[in-house]
Amino acid sequence: MPALDDILHQKLERLEAKHARRTLHETAHEEGIGVMRSGKQLLSFSSNDYLGLSKHPEVINAGVKALSYYGAGAGASRLVTGNHPLYGALETRLAAIKGTASALVFGSGYLANIGVISALMSKDDLIIADKLVHACMLDGAKLSGAKLLRFLHNDTQDAARLLVEHRGNARHCLILTETVFSMDGDLAPIETLQKLANEHDAWLLSDDAHGVFESEVKDQGSENYIQIGTLSKAIGTYGGYVCGSKTLIDYLISSARSFIFSTALPPAVIAAADKALEIIAQNPELCATPLRNARHFTDILELPQATSQIVPIIIGDNAKTLDIAAALEARGLLISAIRPPTVPQGTARLRITFSTLHSEQEVEALAKTLKSLL
Ligand SMILES: *Cc1c(COP(=O)(O)O)cnc(C)c1O
Repeated sequence: MPALDDILHQKLERLEAKHARRTLHETAHEEGIGVMRSGKQLLSFSSNDYLGLSKHPEVINAGVKALSYYGAGAGASRLVTGNHPLYGALETRLAAIKGTASALVFGSGYLANIGVISALMSKDDLIIADKLVHACMLDGAKLSGAKLLRFLHNDTQDAARLLVEHRGNARHCLILTETVFSMDGDLAPIETLQKLANEHDAWLLSDDAHGVFESEVKDQGSENYIQIGTLSKAIGTYGGYVCGSKTLIDYLISSARSFIFSTALPPAVIAAADKALEIIAQNPELCATPLRNARHFTDILELPQATSQIVPIIIGDNAKTLDIAAALEARGLLISAIRPPTVPQGTARLRITFSTLHSEQEVEALAKTLKSLL
């Protein structure tokens, strides 16, 4: 066996021993919220397609039309010849829904985060991040070379303490958080963080990858507030975006490396995302249903009331979490077991996500089955 494979084999065995090895499971998506895995039909509570828009006939149709008219790929980065006319409409819609002057679409949410953070910050700067922010925000912080400090999750006093102690030594300062936390489903105290940022001459960047646009505030746009998001979850397609001032967007076009050096999205994806956003803007009821389903679930199980469509059930132990997920799968329910390093050590969990497509009866059936397994 070649030396590389020897070493990797050992590393895989160590992961296996910790129940931390990851594997891919072929999963075909069926009608509605169902999936097909290993020949078995399952009801999924683990998709981020919260509004069911990935399968919405009008979204699909917009994609199909653009695909046959413009072709399968963009052919180049946006700065070369890939800046398709469809981008303008999509970015105008994104800026309007987020209450900002401008927006810029990236290849994915991951690329948006690493590109924006590393374009804004560098060696003499300070980044203060919530303990639970997504891996791609931390990767962006590392790429930037800035000093990175973490504050306790959603603890604005701890963030204030870090700013008081360290802000003075840095040139620029950026605070990182998530609007809806991806693995916990709780919400960041955005207004307090904005105030804190203003008091300490810092900027705030919040990643709203898990937002479902149910109560989008129209006048969030403040100069020191940067909003990132993805087209890959509630919007049902693929891609990422950043919303902010016109100057911010102009600067990113010239300096965000993951924007400059990566091919533009396929035209069909842009057209489908634009249609999905149009549907979101016209159907507030669609956006309110995931949280209503989540609350119905937490009410039945007498859990703390859900604050978003994401409900974690923390089990702790990796192996036990995997066992419960397997038992649920045997009963026809697909729920993700989330383990470290995606979540902190000792907090392995079932991550349950609710969608517009779940019926009340399906939510009740899940609650009943889970009750019998916990
Ligand atoms: C999923 C996710 C991303 C990545 O977005 P993609 O479009 O899937 O690359 C970024 N940030 C957070 C918080 C996420 O949950």
